Amino acid sequence: MAGPCLWPDLTAKESLLPPESRMRPEMSQEVENLKANLLDQAQEISRLRSELGGTDLEKHRDLLAAENERLRQEMKAREGELRELRRQQAQCRGCTHLQENAGLQERLSQLQREAEEARAKLAELDVEVQQKTNRLAEVELRLKDSLAERAEEEERLSRRLRDSQETIASLKSQPQQIKYIIKTVEVESTKAKQALSESQSRNQYLQEQVGMQRQVLKEMEQQLQNSQKTAAQLRAQIAMYESELERAHGQMLEEMQAMEDEKNRAIEEAFSRAQVEMKAVHENLAGVRTNLLTLQPALRTLTHDYNSLKRQVRDFPLLLQETLRSARAEIGQAIEEVNNTNRELLRKYRRELQLRKKCHNELVRLKGNIRVFGRVRPITKEDGEGPEAANAVTFDANDDAVLHLLHKGKQVSFELDKVFPPQASQEEVFQEVQALVTSCIDGYNVCIFAYGQTGAGKTYTMEGTSANPGINQRALQLLFSEVRSKASDWDYAITVSVAEIYNEALRDLLGKEPQEKLEIKLCPDGSGQLYVPGLTEFRVQSVEDINKVFEFGHVKRVTECTNLNEHSSRSHALLIVTVHGLDRSTGLRTTGKLNLVDLAGSERVGRSGAEGSRLREAQYINKSLSALGDVIYALRSRQGHVPFRNSKLTYLLQDSLSGDSKTLMMVQVSPAEKNTSETLCSLKFAERVRSVELGPISRKAELASWPSQEQLEVTKGDVSGTAISSSRGHASPSPGPPSGRATSIRRKLQTSGKLRPVPV
Ligand code: ADP
Ligand code: MG
Repeated sequence: MAGPCLWPDLTAKESLLPPESRMRPEMSQEVENLKANLLDQAQEISRLRSELGGTDLEKHRDLLAAENERLRQEMKAREGELRELRRQQAQCRGCTHLQENAGLQERLSQLQREAEEARAKLAELDVEVQQKTNRLAEVELRLKDSLAERAEEEERLSRRLRDSQETIASLKSQPQQIKYIIKTVEVESTKAKQALSESQSRNQYLQEQVGMQRQVLKEMEQQLQNSQKTAAQLRAQIAMYESELERAHGQMLEEMQAMEDEKNRAIEEAFSRAQVEMKAVHENLAGVRTNLLTLQPALRTLTHDYNSLKRQVRDFPLLLQETLRSARAEIGQAIEEVNNTNRELLRKYRRELQLRKKCHNELVRLKGNIRVFGRVRPITKEDGEGPEAANAVTFDANDDAVLHLLHKGKQVSFELDKVFPPQASQEEVFQEVQALVTSCIDGYNVCIFAYGQTGAGKTYTMEGTSANPGINQRALQLLFSEVRSKASDWDYAITVSVAEIYNEALRDLLGKEPQEKLEIKLCPDGSGQLYVPGLTEFRVQSVEDINKVFEFGHVKRVTECTNLNEHSSRSHALLIVTVHGLDRSTGLRTTGKLNLVDLAGSERVGRSGAEGSRLREAQYINKSLSALGDVIYALRSRQGHVPFRNSKLTYLLQDSLSGDSKTLMMVQVSPAEKNTSETLCSLKFAERVRSVELGPISRKAELASWPSQEQLEVTKGDVSGTAISSSRGHASPSPGPPSGRATSIRRKLQTSGKLRPVPV
């Protein structure tokens, strides 16, 4: 039988388990429990088997079922372990043994698969055993039936045999009687003979019957033998099945053993690895412990620090609030103070501005609204050589307003507001001019004229060269920088126009049609302002813009004229700069105009008998320069009527010459001997312009009426009478008693408050 030999195998398997010392305690415990369970089950099964006394096959099947159950349990346990291992693996995620664990898991799953297969095989075997058992039971049943039948048959046969034997025996005992009877019959009768034959046939029949019964018996015996053979065959078959089962079981055991070994090996490996890891962990722990030991003092200090910090932190919000409160108060106070200071400063600044403007006006008033400067150019190559090119102009070392001209052997001295010697740079000249330029930003109208004979340096002073620019460009540069410095409070717009007056015709040098004559008209708004319809105005914002504008005007002039030098000396060139300002804080608007005029040459052409266009030009120039002189005279002498309309130039500049406008006359002179006549003429013009108001009352009489250009011409020859003997204050080229009419006019003006005597 397979059953009894199965258990020794199972117990032998236990001896293959690894020693407890090599297993993890919980695992060994589990294995122990399993072993105990196994033993209990084995005992229970053997007990039940002996109690029940079932067939071997049934017992075998039960055993297999029990074993199967045990394996299932064990599988469950392994699965539990697997779950545990997985959990451990999840815990040690990122561990270096992750890969090994994965390998182990794979092996475990392989083992599980194998166990599964074995289980399936076992189930198959179970089914097979069941079938065979059924068949066996059937056969046994059939055998029992046939045995019972046989026994019954035997019984029946033996009974019949017995009956037959009895009959035979009785029959055997009968022949004496038959013989007797025969003898009797023979003796007695035929009747007896008939009875004998009947008995003989009956006997025959009975013998046949016995033979048949014997035959049946023989057949029965044959059947019995067959049945016995079949039973033996069935037994052999059962034995074969049993051996097969045993073999399958052995195979299964082997497989289980192998699985068990595999499992143990895996456990062992895991255990040894865990031990190594534990060792490493222990070592780490030891390191950490030593670290901890060394860290303890530091921790103590840190704790101390932390506690003190905690205290500070606890107190900090209060402290912070306190500090913030005081800081806020301080800041508020400071802001208040700053605001007050700012307000005060702003107030002072505004007052200072007013004051500055007032001072500036006062200064200009003191210096005179019309100022006259003289500039002497250096001797140039164009002056030639020899006595003609000799220098005829000298200066007073102690007074920069005086110059001396040597004319026809006599020295004539002139006093102006300022005299620039040949070595004076453009920069120096501009420094004296810039106050006028800036007043334009404050809303004043300004005129700067360059007066003098051709070649005396008018264009040099006004335009200059690109390397050394003159008043025009410097004025605009200054305006830009002033505007920039005031940009925080003011918005400014600067526009420029470039025009020319030739033969009393006004032309726009920036316009599309420079030949077109422009008209000067009264503004239709009734303001009395003049304007020139069609005069081009360019908005400029940088020096580059100005240069472009100048270049443009210059190009126009060049293309229009065959001989620019000659043309320019016969025409007045005007650069009109308008500055519009808006004070953002007050909304105050200002408009200032700066007129920079390069006048036509003042030389006396008509005198030399010029004819035709030349004479016409000369007449126009003469007329316009005289008109300018007349206007200036009328303005300075505060006359009710100022003859602005006498020339295009004065008419155009009307609003820039009248009112509180400021005018600068830059009288250019040549120092060359050959030019002394013209130089004298120009200087006389200059002095007369200047002395209109600034001179002493006595001298006003002489200037009560402005001399025409012709008169200037006449007087210029009379140098002997104009020579001065003393220095400034007495420099009067044409001294003489004032006329009664002039004196009375002046007196009238003084009493009406229109004319103020200004000390020289
Ligand atoms: P105008 O315009 O009065 O006819 P320009 O300005 O053309 O005279 O001057 C004539 C010449 O004299 C030019 O060559 C100019 O360069 C030169 N010149 C004039 N003034 C000076 C000066 N202050 N320094 C140097 N050169 C000058
Ligand atoms: Mg010129």
